[in-house]
Amino acid sequence: MVVPYSAEPATDFTQEENRKAFKAALENAKNDFGVKRPLVIGGEHIETDDQITSYNPSDKEQAVGHVSKATQGHIDAAFQAAEEAFETWSEWDPRDRAELLIRVAAIIRRRKHEFSALMVYEAGKPWNEADGDTNEGIDFIEYYARSMMELADGKRVLDREGEHNKYFYQPMGAGVTITPWNFPFAIMTGTTVAPIIAGNTVLLKPAEDTPLISYKLIEVLEEAGLPKGVVNFVTGDSGVIGDYMVDHHKTHFITFTGSKATGLRINERASVVQEGQHFLKRVITEMGGKDTIIVDKTADLDLAADSIVNSAFGFAGQKCSAGSRAVIHEDVYDEVLRKAVELTEELTVGNPVEDTYMGPVISQKQFDMIKGYIDIGKEEGTLKIGGETDDSKGYFIQPTIFADLDPKARIMQEEIFGPVVAFAKAKDFDELLEIANNTVYGLTGSVITNTRENWIKAQKKFHVGNLYLNRGCTAAVMGYHPFGGFKLSGTDQKTGSPDYMLNFLEQKVVSEMF
Ligand code: GLU
Repeated sequence: MVVPYSAEPATDFTQEENRKAFKAALENAKNDFGVKRPLVIGGEHIETDDQITSYNPSDKEQAVGHVSKATQGHIDAAFQAAEEAFETWSEWDPRDRAELLIRVAAIIRRRKHEFSALMVYEAGKPWNEADGDTNEGIDFIEYYARSMMELADGKRVLDREGEHNKYFYQPMGAGVTITPWNFPFAIMTGTTVAPIIAGNTVLLKPAEDTPLISYKLIEVLEEAGLPKGVVNFVTGDSGVIGDYMVDHHKTHFITFTGSKATGLRINERASVVQEGQHFLKRVITEMGGKDTIIVDKTADLDLAADSIVNSAFGFAGQKCSAGSRAVIHEDVYDEVLRKAVELTEELTVGNPVEDTYMGPVISQKQFDMIKGYIDIGKEEGTLKIGGETDDSKGYFIQPTIFADLDPKARIMQEEIFGPVVAFAKAKDFDELLEIANNTVYGLTGSVITNTRENWIKAQKKFHVGNLYLNRGCTAAVMGYHPFGGFKLSGTDQKTGSPDYMLNFLEQKVVSEMF
């Protein structure tokens, strides 16, 4: 028996001793700057001449470290290693696999600040966001380990006279995990450990902007005694190895979190049965959102403004759950807008090492794209605050509010993935819902209201995978708020849900006549 799951508590950074410990971790992390991390294939560490450099987005000349670049030949070797490891790993008792991963979680917990500090440098995460990312990684491991323990004996089906039936789960084989830079530890860890706890083996390709934090997971997996070849670490250019991994005839599943464009591409390519492939690939995607907070006329207006601001600007809006649209009843629109602007004025932006509220955005590419949307916003709406950008040292963008948008405006429809929120007005609750549902996405949403009937209506009509009442639309906690969306937000296989492990398992029925 293991203790029941509960989420890892956030570090309280108002406590001086925690601040001291975190500052020490930030200092310590500098000792590793410039480090070179190898590929890991079948347990073998391979360093290539060609490298990817991971830069600090707050200080773009600063190389945090380097990783090797896998070739297609390395991918073939990694599939070979993963297939070989599958032979024995899949035979382990699921409880033994789960226990090994609980050990992994314990090691990470002890070294928590080390992981979070690296994300401050590599991903530009503010302290609390980095801490949340590490904690969520631990949560995923603890949650999925317990989930697998519960599934270990299968589930009951009926017997009848002269007949005994069994229904149980088995792993599928080798697969691919492709991970994002915005939750570079949590999502990377969750989508790597779920398939392996199920008994599969994995080729992990982390985001090119944040490979170093994923190597930390690899180190801990090795320390905890994970057999060689169960997780193979293959960093590299997406253009060179991305499609190749997805298309590979040995890939049983692909779990991907990232942009809609890449998710759709993966979904399409994975549907093609390749030479030598004798199964259908399973695709699990989480692709983004255009998430809306709707504010009713009966709402607590301070709560509304606070929810909008924190959902829009937490981690500089670089979450697929970010509240990038605020749709507000016309009776309270001006007041909520004024309060949101006031709260935004107080936010600090700068190098997150200094414990600012907001750090930089991740890269030049994202910076340029967000800047482009700010220009579009200036045409489409009224700039209320922010709009300034500065990439002289790092990729800094001020938290930006645009008002008076047409619901069909581009900045009301397209995912910006930056600190930009668009305000629009509606005449009644039905129109609030109608606007909330008018994009191709359906990931998260919030309703700020004190009218119970409207909340009941929203639960049926607000078409998103994660709907919240009287709070912001980010910060789902695993095990409490399983996470994933409808429409073009992805395949809705909720992470951190009691059903998630089934994505990586085959269901088998055995029927015996007595
Ligand atoms: N699960 C995160 C949240 O609820 C968002 C994940 C993502 O951005 O991919 O805020």
